[in-house]
Amino acid sequence: MALRRVDQVELQGKRVFIRVDFNVPLNEKNEITDDTRIVLSLPTIRFVSEAGGKVVLASHLGRPKGKREPKFSLAPVAERLSGLLGGSVSLAPDCVGEEVRRQIDGMKEGEVLLLENLRFHPEEEKNEESFSRALASLCEVYINDAFGAAHRAHASTMGMTRYIQTVAAGFLMMKEVESLERALVNPQKPYVAILGGAKVSDKIGVIQNLLDKVTTLLVGGGMAYTFLKAKGFGVGKSLVEGDQIGLSLHLLEGAKGKIKFILPSDHVAAERMDVQARREIVSNENIPGDWVCLDIGPETIRVFSDEIKTARTIFWNGPMGVFEMEPFSQGTFAIARNIARSSAFSIVGGGDSVAAVNQAGVADKIGHISTGGGASLEFIEGKKLPGIEALRKEG
Ligand code: AMP
Repeated sequence: MALRRVDQVELQGKRVFIRVDFNVPLNEKNEITDDTRIVLSLPTIRFVSEAGGKVVLASHLGRPKGKREPKFSLAPVAERLSGLLGGSVSLAPDCVGEEVRRQIDGMKEGEVLLLENLRFHPEEEKNEESFSRALASLCEVYINDAFGAAHRAHASTMGMTRYIQTVAAGFLMMKEVESLERALVNPQKPYVAILGGAKVSDKIGVIQNLLDKVTTLLVGGGMAYTFLKAKGFGVGKSLVEGDQIGLSLHLLEGAKGKIKFILPSDHVAAERMDVQARREIVSNENIPGDWVCLDIGPETIRVFSDEIKTARTIFWNGPMGVFEMEPFSQGTFAIARNIARSSAFSIVGGGDSVAAVNQAGVADKIGHISTGGGASLEFIEGKKLPGIEALRKEG
């Protein structure tokens, strides 16, 4: 069943619960360091408000582990949102309960109220039924715009939709789903997927699924070393997941004759993980036994870039090296710039890869930047996401 969008439901005068993703990064002074997630939710919030809905926003923030902790309060978000909307947004003392209900009952059409952190209640992540009912009892319409949390079966992303008749997707959710579907269902070929980051084990599912879909799979970052080790190379002290070597070999075998599965051929190796450490460009055959590989080398950048150039569809998740440290950031930034230069439809997901395209100043040249790293991986894996499936119902 197709998703219904927020502009296809009756909103005037209704109490509208919008599950947003306001899980923004905060510094030690509890200041928001990046408000992208809030900004991206504005079109849906404004739309519901202008349509005469009473806007009740709910989100999680951080990992308060089911306890009320002031440092995980959504207060800084309420303040930033007020500034962005040009009006005051009140913060409710909680996300359920009598006081919250009274506040919602007193709302006028178009007003915006932010509920306090959903994860102050352990029942949220447990998808507990009475908590789901309590959330659902607050509103008449449910909108989910939190793609970043759509792979979680929680009370606010799934449980409560059982008790609300009218459910729909927000504009951001819709854009995520439509963009990712372009890469999942009949993508234009050549289709090049680039995977990096620390762990193979996190990305096994997506690799398996991509073997049937992509033309070329480029693997860099820490995860490449488990594959290289599986192929028999000595990788020194580079990151290796010993228990994944067998599976990695199996994946490499499975790719043979089907797709191009390309691993790095050279690396930026260092004596240790430190910007001051001695470093050298080394090929697969020459990785020193007590050194660590922290970025892809220039030859690999060239090979990966040639593949990216010919692509019609690109999916990228995970950095090519320890890009947080300048000496090991070249591979990741080169990939970001090459994707931006390509005329392919490109999707970039995952916090680090998104940060890299932002830092490289090329975000506006990417087809779709996904707000959900984990959710976008699971989507590309071909999994059904509970937060999206819950929206597929009549009403
Ligand atoms: P992930 O969350 O799995 O996408 O991993 C992201 C992290 O992987 C980043 O913090 C990178 O610093 C790290 N990373 C990337 N390449 C390497 C590498 N060659 N060795 C160790 N860590 C790496």
